[in-house]
Amino acid sequence: MMDCDAIRPNLMAMLDGELTQPERQVCEAHLETCRECSQIATEYRAIQAAPPPPEEFDVWPDVQAQIAPDIQTQSLLAEMRLMREEMRALSQEVTQLRQALKQAAPSPGRSTALDLPYIRKSTHSPFQLV
Ligand SMILES: [Zn+2]
Repeated sequence: MMDCDAIRPNLMAMLDGELTQPERQVCEAHLETCRECSQIATEYRAIQAAPPPPEEFDVWPDVQAQIAPDIQTQSLLAEMRLMREEMRALSQEVTQLRQALKQAAPSPGRSTALDLPYIRKSTHSPFQLV
């Protein structure tokens, strides 16, 4: 006869069908005689049967709520927003320049893609382009 301490770590595994047949039989036999372990098994079954929480894994609103009062974070976020705007503007500018280059210098056989000289020179961030 196994005692509760030996059985309980195996309860979840048993419900998951991860025990061997003999192990399972020992567990089930114990559950029939032990009210406490049987209770725990019932709770595990309820946990198993419960549908997975749908949106609770989306922690982002919680995280945001926690960091919202942080002024430093706020200014960082603002800076990031600005940088994003800047990148969008730059990307438009590059597109226009590429377009202009294509029209100004129609050299056949030579690709104009990524062929703007100042892009080549830029080894740091895209913000160096300005
Ligand atoms: Zn027990």
